[in-house]
Amino acid sequence: AVRVAGLGRTFGDRSVLDGVDLEVAPGEIVAIIGASGSGKSTLLRIVGGLDVATEGVVTIDDRPVTGIDDRVAVGFQEPRLLPWRTIAGNVAFGLPAHLDRAAGRERVAALLDLVGLDDFAGHRPRAVSGGMAQRTSLARALARDPGVLLLDEPFGALDALTRMRMQDLLLGVLETAPTTVLLVTHDVEEALQLADRVVLLGADPDRPGARIQQIVTVPGERPRDRGSAELA
Ligand code: ATP
Ligand code: MG
Repeated sequence: AVRVAGLGRTFGDRSVLDGVDLEVAPGEIVAIIGASGSGKSTLLRIVGGLDVATEGVVTIDDRPVTGIDDRVAVGFQEPRLLPWRTIAGNVAFGLPAHLDRAAGRERVAALLDLVGLDDFAGHRPRAVSGGMAQRTSLARALARDPGVLLLDEPFGALDALTRMRMQDLLLGVLETAPTTVLLVTHDVEEALQLADRVVLLGADPDRPGARIQQIVTVPGERPRDRGSAELA
């Protein structure tokens, strides 16, 4: 489980997060929504060990996160691919260091197949579409085989159809590899479609520093079970 307890983050004298408590069960998908500037990315970056809290702790399976962690993979809104590397090379960049070369090659091939990019393995990022770049970025995150996947508006920049395909792809992937997911999104519909619970982050009117204002459990079947049927 991912456990966030009493988390605070200030930048100078400005409080951005203050008293964030959240627990995410293994295999659970939690979506985080909230106004622009409410601290969603900051929270995600701290959970991913890319930023440090000024108060509180984050643990994964009871071990604190103290920096970049092999148990966690992060995907961003912009694909952030390395332009001089091929699509396959970019996916390989996500492999954990301990994996040997043959196993790594095999995993990259499987992921390229999974996201439908096997024909583009040798292309450079500038030679593929935005949706393909985003799929490459998702495959790179999954290359770590992470227990915890953090996604910060991963599909925000995509057109509606590509976005639906990516959501579908993500649910399909999570079906085969159970993963704990924290997903930041501006899209409430996306949150309800993908998540088991939706968390609203925000500040009280009379007090700076965002905390969790509301948690909504999404009713119905688990999202990963309603998977691809709707787009088939
Ligand atoms: P958006 O929806 O626009 O992505 P967000 O909810 O992700 O917004 P954050 O990016 O977490 O918001 O930023 C929250 C606040 O913290 C903002 O006011 C931002 O300016 C501030 N902030 C974030 N990182 C830093 C930093 N490194 N130094 C100073 N201020 C920062
Ligand atoms: Mg953000």
